[in-house]
Amino acid sequence: MLIVLLACISVAVATPASEYSGRKRYDNYRLISVQPENEQQLKVLGDFQTKGYDSVFFDFWADPTLKRPAEFTVSPSQYEKVMQYLRDNNMTPTVEVDDIQMFENIAEFEAKVQPELFFNNIVDHSQYHRYDQISEYLTGFANNFGSIARKRSMSQTTYGRRTMDYLEISTNGFAGTRRAILIEAGIHAREWISPAAILYITDRLLASYTTDSEAAYMLNSFDWIIIPVTNPDGYEYSHTDDRYWRKNRHYRGGNCRGVDLNRNFDARWGTTGVSSSCSSDIYPGSAAMSEIEAQNVQDLVADIQNGGTRLIGYLAVHSYSQMILLPYSHTFGSRPPNYQNLDNYGISAGNALYNVHGRRFQVGTGPELLYAASGGSDDWAIMGGSVKYAYTYELRPATASAGGFVLPASQIVPSGEELFASFYNLAISLYNDS
Ligand SMILES: [Zn+2]
Repeated sequence: MLIVLLACISVAVATPASEYSGRKRYDNYRLISVQPENEQQLKVLGDFQTKGYDSVFFDFWADPTLKRPAEFTVSPSQYEKVMQYLRDNNMTPTVEVDDIQMFENIAEFEAKVQPELFFNNIVDHSQYHRYDQISEYLTGFANNFGSIARKRSMSQTTYGRRTMDYLEISTNGFAGTRRAILIEAGIHAREWISPAAILYITDRLLASYTTDSEAAYMLNSFDWIIIPVTNPDGYEYSHTDDRYWRKNRHYRGGNCRGVDLNRNFDARWGTTGVSSSCSSDIYPGSAAMSEIEAQNVQDLVADIQNGGTRLIGYLAVHSYSQMILLPYSHTFGSRPPNYQNLDNYGISAGNALYNVHGRRFQVGTGPELLYAASGGSDDWAIMGGSVKYAYTYELRPATASAGGFVLPASQIVPSGEELFASFYNLAISLYNDS
């Protein structure tokens, strides 16, 4: 009896998924890849994404573009019909992954065999954490490094009545006079590596501030404002109910649940890369800045700027694709006046990242590398937030077949390590920027 009990406990501790038995399963959901060959096929795929097909909306992991194959998931029951529809439009869809549930199974197994990794005796970097735990970690940082770190909450609570917590780091006594860099992580719920890598970076900055020259440089050159989870309601939902949830959880009646927060910002809002259907994953909301989470970011940035331009850097962290995206995302060919520096610093930051674990991140504007999308926080940071430098990181992995949004927890630390090196490099560039 005792042995059985112990076995049960060890499984319960080691297998985080066991407590999420109610989470939607994706058994035999396929990931379809299809390359549109011309503008007409691109339009067919664009409509397929934004308007749905046969009253069903599909989950796109890579949006339609002529530059690389579009990827979306399809349930077993929709599979034949969708493949036929694409073939009828002269496209050649292929099955890239035949069972996306497999990614979660693999990730859970890898999480089980990983030893616990503690960098600072505050955060366990061997696994992905729930929102309450992440918030507790921020409390831990503030308690352990009170002279340079403090935990704050944004002005409004979310639709799910969660506080949006963030950390301020200042080695300048929070005087509000030093230039600042903001990190926005976890705005898309399912991109779990984003909050996890940022927790690693935060932990390392604070823990090694007095012993490591890179951490000291970063903290002595800038104040840092770190939002580990910019979409707490969606993030929690991706843990409890649906691993592939992307939007927030704002309920607007009927089937209208959730807004894509990274389409909701006031930057050419609602013009490109969006769907007017509220069921879509890229629904931008009823108006620019309609969502509490986006309003909170706007208020926070205004508070930091205080009428000036103290906030010089805005780093949005997403997954996946292994890219560093430069503004503007809203329109192909549209660039901020300081684009040349944005590009140079981005390339340098990409090289610094590569030198850690050999992961190549492409650098370029969203429309050049992917597709145009309006209402992003990076564009808004420059256009509406008076921030000079904005970058959007798409973290590991490079492709859907490498797991897409479901990155094994064993990659949290290496992903955090390379991102730390990249941010350090960016900090040098921004510090020396005139
Ligand atoms: Zn994202």
